[in-house]
Amino acid sequence: MGFVLCTILMVLSILSTTQSPPAPVIDSHQHLFSPAAGALVTGKPDSPGISAHNLIELLDAAGIQRALVLSMAYTWGKASRAPVANEYEQVKAENDWTAQQVAQYPDRLRAFCSFNPLKPYALEELARCHKDPQLHYGLKLHFGNSDVDLDNLDDVAKVRKVFEAANRYRMPIVVHLHTSIDKQRKYGAEETRVFLDQLLTAAPDVPVQIAHLAGSGGFDAATDAALGVFTDAIAKHDARMKNVWFDAAVVVRPSMSPDDLQRIAARIRQIGIKRVLYGSDAPASPLVYPKAGWAAFQRLPLTTDELRVVASNIPPYMRNFAKK
Ligand SMILES: [Zn+2]
Repeated sequence: MGFVLCTILMVLSILSTTQSPPAPVIDSHQHLFSPAAGALVTGKPDSPGISAHNLIELLDAAGIQRALVLSMAYTWGKASRAPVANEYEQVKAENDWTAQQVAQYPDRLRAFCSFNPLKPYALEELARCHKDPQLHYGLKLHFGNSDVDLDNLDDVAKVRKVFEAANRYRMPIVVHLHTSIDKQRKYGAEETRVFLDQLLTAAPDVPVQIAHLAGSGGFDAATDAALGVFTDAIAKHDARMKNVWFDAAVVVRPSMSPDDLQRIAARIRQIGIKRVLYGSDAPASPLVYPKAGWAAFQRLPLTTDELRVVASNIPPYMRNFAKK
């Protein structure tokens, strides 16, 4: 009997180490688009946008329970697009539409408010979101879309005020740190040091999630240099990094070589697997649907146990959901 039991246990343990990891509990980087925002970004006036109902179907197909929905309101103030009429009205409408969408699935979805932090209405909108029952959970900033130039002292001072206010309101921040590609802004170690010294220090009491492992999707030399500043700080137990999380949304591309994948996996281990979050990004094409995104992430040469940890990581702002 001892031998049989032993054999069964051995087979079970082999099975459990070769089995694929469970689906992530949380998709920490999602977006919805109102029909108006869909029309704006695609240029198609009849765009249906992406609704909460659409997203829930895609999460179900991937076996993912919950998603952090980052409002697309900032795109109404996109720096490299011609200005829109009544911009601030559109920003408010997009944040409010997103709030109404997630409110339909209180046990599955949570929204973060957004806007371009360089605009004159930035602090007013943050205060408005702070009072909203759906939008007070946090703030998403997109430095690339909003053209926050980290080499420009005026830009940094404006964004610092937004960080200070978010910290006062205890609103966590998700930041797409990579500067504008359209405007060919510099991005790398130097800019990341500005972020660490000037901005992160303004929000010491809230979690901060760095999107796309500090890149903008994919993983190039500039992203690696930026991420290196963070991993060096983590290695030195820099207290500023204690509340910092990283999402890996759309980092793994189909064309990536084994060397690229090794480099990303090494960086993930330097960050520490416990603070790396799975994210899919907007389901604009089947290639980035949550199911496909998680399959892509699993191409990284991480162990099943490491993947399991990423899949089970829950950042503080995605806890305490309403029960159905
Ligand atoms: Zn995104």
